[in-house]
Amino acid sequence: MHLNPYGEDAVNLAADLVNRRPADATELAERCRAAGLVLETPVTPADLERTLTVLDDWETIVDAATEHERAARLNRMLADAAAHPRLTDHAGGWHLHYRDAGQSLGTVLTSLIAVGTALHLAGRGMHRLRRCAVAECDLVIADTSRTGRQRYCSTRCANRDAVRRHRRRQAA
Ligand SMILES: [Zn+2]
Ligand SMILES: [Zn+2]
Repeated sequence: MHLNPYGEDAVNLAADLVNRRPADATELAERCRAAGLVLETPVTPADLERTLTVLDDWETIVDAATEHERAARLNRMLADAAAHPRLTDHAGGWHLHYRDAGQSLGTVLTSLIAVGTALHLAGRGMHRLRRCAVAECDLVIADTSRTGRQRYCSTRCANRDAVRRHRRRQAA
């Protein structure tokens, strides 16, 4: 996985992992590989544990009440992940890594999610992380839409809300 200028793949991976938390290290490895991550070391239960902690922190960034709170929380995550950016061609083609070489997946994910989320928010807008607008659905959306006004996690939730609003109008 390469961090594109808006961190889209990384922030989508974070949302995907938060919305459906991996049950074990094998599942975590498979889903990271499917998302295009090159795994350099064997994935262990410690990686899963670290990842789940990072996802808990990331949820507090999603649920932050203000932009400044969101930035402060993300800055703390960036500080934990801090390493020199470096050029690498390990997967063919030169690109930047924001982490040290040879690290375990838990550490790699911390950097990737922190930097990817920062690129996403700075590049596309600080408001572009939220929960689905359907009250009983708490899935997280990393809004990469053109307008930046994506309200639902899925067409299913959009339809559910439309039906509900329609009924409410009829009842009124
Ligand atoms: Zn790479
Ligand atoms: Zn939803």
